[in-house]
Amino acid sequence: MKKGQLIVISGFAGTGKGTLVKLLTSRYEKDYILSVSATTRQPRSGEREGIEYFFKTVDEFEEMIRNDELLEYAKFVDNYYGTPASFVKEWREAGRNVILEIEIQGALKIKEKYEDTVLIFVVPPSAEELKARLIKRGTETEEVIDKRLKRAGEESEGIEKYDYVLVNDDLETCVEELHQVICASAHSTKTQGELIERLRQELKVFG
Ligand code: 5GP
Repeated sequence: MKKGQLIVISGFAGTGKGTLVKLLTSRYEKDYILSVSATTRQPRSGEREGIEYFFKTVDEFEEMIRNDELLEYAKFVDNYYGTPASFVKEWREAGRNVILEIEIQGALKIKEKYEDTVLIFVVPPSAEELKARLIKRGTETEEVIDKRLKRAGEESEGIEKYDYVLVNDDLETCVEELHQVICASAHSTKTQGELIERLRQELKVFG
């Protein structure tokens, strides 16, 4: 069976990437599976253990780091976030494309480990729109919103390290663009290293 792709989606807090990824994975559920991260952040209202995140204490999270259970982890605005390794490995081997919705430091660590990872950055149409969406979401205090906006400025410096950038203006358009980009990237020479190498070896027969 062909191994699934590893796809990382990042974007500033409030860009709507969570909604985007949920729509992608429910619309094309045979193609994609969303990895569930561990975090030390407090659950927001409506968030469920094992669905949005595995909620951990700092001690529990640091234990996971020591036991090498995380593929990557990072600190983001005062909390730990990390990707459990076993989930990603098992689903990729089962042929499913695994989506990681993570921030930039983690994304770059994953790319270092697995060169064929596809990195996609989702941006809002404008900075004003980003602020408006964060306020409208109403899940964070003004202080946290300010920290997240400041962090967005820092994160914007790293966008060129990603393979693709998508604008989330209209959700429906963006989800289809996302699916198309992932489908196209499966044929990129970067992700087809094994195929190219096999053909090279086979061609040697002809001298
Ligand atoms: P939030 O608190 O809004 O759910 O997430 C804050 C940030 O952490 C988002 O940018 C989200 O993509 C990122 N994040 C979520 N899970 C992980 C993870 O496992 N690893 C890393 N590095 N970032 C994560």
